[in-house]
Amino acid sequence: MEEIDVLVVGAGPAGTTVAHRLAVGGHQVVVVEEHPRVGYPVQCAGLVSQRALDLAGTTSVVRATVRGATVFGPSLGSVHFKAPEPRAFVIDRGGLDVALADRAARAGAEFRTSVRFDGRGTSEGGRTVVRLTGPENTRSEVSVRLVIGADGVSSAVARAFRLRRPVEILPAFEAEIPRSPGDPDTVEVYLGRKFSPGLFGWWIPDGSGGARVGVAVDADGTSARAYFDHLLEYLARRFGKPLGSPTALLVSGIPIGTVPQTHGDGVMLVGDAAAQVKPLSGGGIFTGMRCAEIAAAVAHDALGRGDLSATRLADYDRAWRAEFGEEFHRALYLRRVFQRLDDTDLDRLIAALQGSELAATIVAFGDIDFPTHVARQLLRQSPSLVRLLPKALGAWVSSGSFRTPQLDFGGRK
Ligand SMILES: Cc1cc2nc3c(=O)[nH]c(=O)nc-3n(C[C@H](O)[C@H](O)[C@H](O)COP(=O)(O)OP(=O)(O)OC[C@H]3O[C@@H](n4cnc5c(N)ncnc54)[C@H](O)[C@@H]3O)c2cc1C
Repeated sequence: MEEIDVLVVGAGPAGTTVAHRLAVGGHQVVVVEEHPRVGYPVQCAGLVSQRALDLAGTTSVVRATVRGATVFGPSLGSVHFKAPEPRAFVIDRGGLDVALADRAARAGAEFRTSVRFDGRGTSEGGRTVVRLTGPENTRSEVSVRLVIGADGVSSAVARAFRLRRPVEILPAFEAEIPRSPGDPDTVEVYLGRKFSPGLFGWWIPDGSGGARVGVAVDADGTSARAYFDHLLEYLARRFGKPLGSPTALLVSGIPIGTVPQTHGDGVMLVGDAAAQVKPLSGGGIFTGMRCAEIAAAVAHDALGRGDLSATRLADYDRAWRAEFGEEFHRALYLRRVFQRLDDTDLDRLIAALQGSELAATIVAFGDIDFPTHVARQLLRQSPSLVRLLPKALGAWVSSGSFRTPQLDFGGRK
């Protein structure tokens, strides 16, 4: 049976980042990707921060810069803000995955496409037998020291190793629209039950005259596609002209909420597989790549010691939570508050945000990777905002501590 030191399952940004780091560290790394082409089909809007580009080590995938945002409430009141400098970047997401895979391959990682992880067999003597299915349904088994599940939201690796899945997976639908008559460096966000209950709808100019339009919603029995169609109809009315037929349709899911454990004996999860996703936006490229770097550092050490036990790999869980745990915790808390707001509350929230001082605060503190900082700052500055929200939130905002209060959320409104 073939023996492999590190098997990375999935060639998205998290998998290719961990593969690159471990290959640089001199380890034998094999990446399996179920699709024939790394990076395709694209399942992402591709809006990232400078931090993500820094981790990727390339700007060649940038297609447009974003300086501002307009957030629409359910009755279409809006709040707009714009920074003098770029705050986010619209990237060629397929191109990013390819660039990251090239980097890992150049460092020595081996890529096998059209190969799917299908489950695990026995674990013995510090090795796990893994079942793979290759082109034309060829089945094989390999013996692996460390399996890294970077296989996205439906992670087969997490299921095979009995690691718990995130509590919520939000259905998402996105497409590319050929015409984008709006401001080319401003993204639009649509809140409210009619547009996108549970998260939001988005309109992101793509830098070549079109836009990426999508929704992520609560699983409430109505399909994400129906909400998408509704948003598109509204946008065509708003711009007063046809926007062209949507292409590159994608249906996917966004994991929300951290999972209790992202490692086990001989296994680690990274990226969406580990629900390392920002709970207020669903963005996971930066967080997944950064956590993949942390995973690689811990794996490098564990491989060197010849100890891939859950006890040793627990350092990974501790380290990534030290960096993101508090932000995710606060963001989840704010998300729960947000979910309790009905459309009237959301309209009031937008109205309360309409003021030049608050717009200036958003510009000064806005950070797509750490959105709770600006949220807290806004709540501190505007008592009318706090009055709209539960009492416990007010206590949190005025306290010196940045820990979130305990709240009994009960049922949703
Ligand atoms: C509609 C939508 C829009 C989004 N927009 C943004 C955005 O603008 N900005 C942002 O930061 N994030 C965004 N995200 C989230 C972002 O796409 C993910 O967080 C990110 O792709 C996670 O990277 P990953 O490497 O963990 O997983 P993925 O990118 O999902 O990669 C997983 C890879 O594993 C492969 N795979 C799966 N199962 C197997 C298997 N059994 N065997 C072999 N291979 C397998 C898949 O084919 C895939 O290539 C969006 C998500 C959605 C759904």
